[in-house]
Amino acid sequence: MTKGHVHLHPRRAKPLYARHPWVYPAAIASVEGDPADGDEVDVHAHGGAFVARGLYNSRSRLRVRLYSWDADQPLDRAFFHHRVAEAVRLRRDVLRLVGPNQACRLVFSEGDGLSGLTVDLYDRWLVVQFTSLALALRREMFADILADLLGPAGIYLRTERGVGKLEGLELQDGLLRGNAPPGPVLIREPALNGSPAVEFLVDLAEGQKTGFYLDQRENRLAAARYAKGRRVLDAFCYSGGFGLTCLRAGANSVVGVDSSEAAIQLARLNAAQNGFSGEKVAYHKADVFEFMQEAVRCRERFGLIVLDPPKFARTKSAVEDALRGYRRLLTLAQLLLEPEGILVLCCCSGLISMEMLEDLSAQVAASARRTVQLLERRGQPPDHPVVISCLESAYLKCLIQRILV
Ligand code: SAH
Repeated sequence: MTKGHVHLHPRRAKPLYARHPWVYPAAIASVEGDPADGDEVDVHAHGGAFVARGLYNSRSRLRVRLYSWDADQPLDRAFFHHRVAEAVRLRRDVLRLVGPNQACRLVFSEGDGLSGLTVDLYDRWLVVQFTSLALALRREMFADILADLLGPAGIYLRTERGVGKLEGLELQDGLLRGNAPPGPVLIREPALNGSPAVEFLVDLAEGQKTGFYLDQRENRLAAARYAKGRRVLDAFCYSGGFGLTCLRAGANSVVGVDSSEAAIQLARLNAAQNGFSGEKVAYHKADVFEFMQEAVRCRERFGLIVLDPPKFARTKSAVEDALRGYRRLLTLAQLLLEPEGILVLCCCSGLISMEMLEDLSAQVAASARRTVQLLERRGQPPDHPVVISCLESAYLKCLIQRILV
């Protein structure tokens, strides 16, 4: 039930009418009715017309997150049930990503009209992440809805660091429903040309994010198409995703590097799980910048390099620093690649655009006097849908380049 009314300044309603879901404080002229954090509110244009209905949080920069543009639609259990069911139908019936040992992103926040809710599916377990206080307050309702739609063995709650401060939200990670898996959960990702699937063990309770980087599923396959016969450097390898998919596609060998000891252990476990011996794959706990620097000194060469760093830029002011990091990585990669080598450059920071990465690649190529062919411009897979009214939901970039000497 609506507990308050938010009135906008003149000319601030347009993107919201177009279904952008975020109302910033600067757009708000007044708040009527003293809504509590998490309450349902109606948003009105300057003239008083109803624009949309959302959930209020005085402690967030996203003061209201919008969910419905229908004045007759309350944001109740039936409404959210319908939204989650829509999201589930895409993954289950259209993309066919729901089944034994499969994994996918089942709900992708703004991409599914559910700003602040992320749900990942790993075999029979769900991992739920709330990035909005209002949805987190409704966590029992969402657990009911998910249990009803999917009948999972268990539902885990994982919280991203930093959300507490952004939303005024304190959540304890742990089991929301059902049972914990007896150990790491086994998932399978497709391999090329009918090769056996690649298996990964996912630690739901302790792994990074919700346990696995599901958003790179199709980029791993795309990279693997170029891997046959090559020596691969999987930089920022986490649990081994890119490198193991390349090995399955016939790569000669893989060197994986990550600064996290836990990640390296998972990568080794996953290599063994897929039957790859120490001759084929080696993992190093190291800083990628230092590792690549040292590899250049030792005149090492790779036929394919994957660069998949974490989000370097979280704020606008950090973009310059992030680009410097990317420039360094690209420069080192060009020095390490064999002639006609392949570079797979990934970026998960929404603040860095495809154009910025291409510009940077061109600059690095020019100063290294190399010719770079852009073979593929890639993004995120369809279980991470980009909603066209909120292009902030497009965050993942993957450029596949061929470097000619
Ligand atoms: N490619 C992976 C996902 C990478 S996520 C996959 O497909 O699953 C980014 C990884 O970079 C994390 O595992 C993190 O531990 C690691 N990392 C962050 N900074 C690093 C650094 N300076 N050197 C090496 N690894 C780093």
